[in-house]
Amino acid sequence: MSRIIDLSYPVDTHWRPNWLNERKVQSSFDTGSNWYTSIVTINCHAFTHVDAPLHKVKGGKTLDQIPLDTFMGSAYIIDVSYKGPGEGIQAQDMEEHAQHLQAGGIAIIKTLWDEKCSHQTKDFWIRAPYIEKSACEWLLERKVKSVGFDFPPAYSFRYPYLDPSERGTDHYSPHETFLPKGIGTIEYLCNLGQLQKNVVQLFALYPNIVGVEGFPARVIAIED
Ligand SMILES: [Zn+2]
Repeated sequence: MSRIIDLSYPVDTHWRPNWLNERKVQSSFDTGSNWYTSIVTINCHAFTHVDAPLHKVKGGKTLDQIPLDTFMGSAYIIDVSYKGPGEGIQAQDMEEHAQHLQAGGIAIIKTLWDEKCSHQTKDFWIRAPYIEKSACEWLLERKVKSVGFDFPPAYSFRYPYLDPSERGTDHYSPHETFLPKGIGTIEYLCNLGQLQKNVVQLFALYPNIVGVEGFPARVIAIED
């Protein structure tokens, strides 16, 4: 029997300004309406989400313009969970742990960072492992169609929460390598520790929304 594993964070209150989601009740039973309706305002890059080329490329394609299967299909789990806080994931790590990756597949970089540090803390960003350009170029050469991460993938994502004197000069982000090539990115996955196999069927689904560069997604894995 198949197992379904939810790889997405609950979209709930969060301290991070670009993860804020504001709720407004538009009508409710308490105010005499026969319906309860509400409005949620959310950043397209909040919580578990997918990115389309427009996120990093001027004039790039939006989510409705890329193939629907960009974020679904065979996903290859690349276990680099031995990486500790602040450690970079390099091409050598891919060489040693991603040989099962097939062309046209989805690469999922597993650090289990969600088990080691709560996404409700600043440490989640400040102390996270990150991925280096060499590893991303290795994945690009293997012709992946999308790449997912269970940690803040760019080293610079910690800078907003550091004193200016503690910030580095590394501004590389994997989006630079993948999005201009039409390769999708999936950020802030969780629960990869619940997977029992290193190849799963993955589905990252989002509304059929027109003209946006990313959107929160419900990401699930199915294991046979
Ligand atoms: Zn994003």
